[in-house]
Amino acid sequence: MEDCLFCKIVAGNIPCYKVYEDERTLAFLDINPINKGHTLVIPKVHVSKISELSDDGLVAFFRALQKVTRAVEGSVRLDGLNLFVNQGEVAGQVVPHFHCHISPRLKGDGLRMWIPSLKLSEEEFVDTMVKIKMALKD
Ligand code: 5GP
Ligand code: ZN
Repeated sequence: MEDCLFCKIVAGNIPCYKVYEDERTLAFLDINPINKGHTLVIPKVHVSKISELSDDGLVAFFRALQKVTRAVEGSVRLDGLNLFVNQGEVAGQVVPHFHCHISPRLKGDGLRMWIPSLKLSEEEFVDTMVKIKMALKD
């Protein structure tokens, strides 16, 4: 994708602090880190969401994600970490090239990622569960 920022990074047209690369995957430091070691893992192929990755693309991606996560865990100071994907503008996706954040967390870093949960009735839980289960059969 010509005008995709992360495709430009994959092509080497925009520099990055690269930490890992294999045939299908690239990982580099987020330019606006939440904490030191905040890393983005991306497939080299342009897809905007996880459902667009092929089966073997998915396997390669998660293997690389685990490998880089271990390296982050073993190299920067952290008390925990968040692995997260923002998918779609409403979810906070700014760069429309699928990527997973590896975000080291420190006690007291002040980041709050969740607000109190929605209250659902028994009927709403069941209805939602059935809808997702049915969609899995497609
Ligand atoms: P999103 O909100 O789409 O999940 O995350 C995009 C991330 O990309 C943000 O955390 C942002 O700081 C990071 N980012 C944006 N532009 C650049 C860039 O040019 N280089 C790097 N390394 N990261 C970037
Ligand atoms: Zn792209």
